[in-house]
Amino acid sequence: MSDPLALLGGSPVLSSPLKPYNSIGEEEVEAVNEVVRSGQLSGFYGSAGEHFDGGTKVREFEDLWSEAFRVKYTVSVNSATSGLYAAIGAIGICPGDEVIVPPLTMSATVMAPLLYGGIPIFADVDPDTFCLDPISVKERITSKTKAIIAVNLFGHPAQLRILRDIADAEGIWLIEDNAQAPLAMEGDAYSGTVGDIGIFSLNYHKHIHTGEGGMCVTNNSELALRLRLIRNHGENVVEDYELDDITNLVCFNYRMTEIAAAIGIQQLNKVNLHVDTRERASLRLSSGIEGLEGLNPPLVRDNCRHVYYIWALKYDEEAVGINRELFSEALSAEGFPHFLGYVRPLYMLPVFQRRIAIGTDGFPFNLGKPKYHEGICPISERMFRKELILFEPCAYQLNDDVIDQLIQAIQKVYNSKQQLLNLA
Ligand SMILES: *Cc1c(COP(=O)(O)O)cnc(C)c1O
Repeated sequence: MSDPLALLGGSPVLSSPLKPYNSIGEEEVEAVNEVVRSGQLSGFYGSAGEHFDGGTKVREFEDLWSEAFRVKYTVSVNSATSGLYAAIGAIGICPGDEVIVPPLTMSATVMAPLLYGGIPIFADVDPDTFCLDPISVKERITSKTKAIIAVNLFGHPAQLRILRDIADAEGIWLIEDNAQAPLAMEGDAYSGTVGDIGIFSLNYHKHIHTGEGGMCVTNNSELALRLRLIRNHGENVVEDYELDDITNLVCFNYRMTEIAAAIGIQQLNKVNLHVDTRERASLRLSSGIEGLEGLNPPLVRDNCRHVYYIWALKYDEEAVGINRELFSEALSAEGFPHFLGYVRPLYMLPVFQRRIAIGTDGFPFNLGKPKYHEGICPISERMFRKELILFEPCAYQLNDDVIDQLIQAIQKVYNSKQQLLNLA
């Protein structure tokens, strides 16, 4: 007879909550103190000259980032959201242009085109890695398509090589939202570096962070310049830079502080360690539930590296015999922190359902005929409603003991299914 489930009054497998993950240590404290003592908290000026591209820490951080991710140019920004907005501006998205995006991502990915009058067009994801399905992308391409934004969701690379080939064949841009996937790989390419621009996030929840922050990478010198202009009031310097094409140079203040850059330099030193830890823990968790029919641990495509921003379990209700919500309730009661479904497919947000973005009369949606009704991306909808159970390795301190308790919690619930069925 198995132990009673915690949901039914038994004792939980995890007796205390998992400890939060904190990657900030003495190195960051020292680095911040040095900057604060110097009094130079930012080095930016919004006018032509040496300081247009920021202070010494910002530039050092960008150079180190370029080296670490093997790219020619890195442009730091104050968030990945800013980075996505800057990228869409830099590639010259104009009102009415279509940009293909996935529905399962953080909202900023799909809002970015709207800022420039671009129309987000949703393509479905593949049911194994939850990233854009290249076949669905191809089906959505029209003469108005100007770009694809691929998201390397949960830390696994999208099918970047294939998407790159599609973009090249169509003469359109490929942007990568790589916020969740530092050091992920497809073949020998780092995710984030296959697209024309790749965007990383340094917000508090990501593998490494500066509180808030983001990094844009590119191998294209013209795009690098346009990103720098958009970051820092570029409208003031287009004459000094002798720029003829000033499209989308309605610019912002997306500048990173010297303090954030100093923290970022220290965090970059630790990125391998932190990513390795997340990967090792996640693989242990995956192998610990092998053989439990109906619980499918994250798939890693051949020649890819998954860095597990989120460990996504795919739940098969038929095979398990109870619904996901009840299984989840029992798992929570055992002390396993998780959530269901990631985000509701983003086309269900009011901005798309009501078609109110910029102004009051439907701009930019009224420049095209985009479809946002339920059913346009059935796989994304199914993942959200029925299949995904998500654990966040980046949120917790992880070691073998912790992982083994998580495995025990899953096994206990799975093997006590009968107790739950009796309940129903
Ligand atoms: C976190 C995240 C963002 C936004 O990052 P910020 O730095 O908070 O702006 C964008 N896209 C994805 C996929 C994310 O996970």
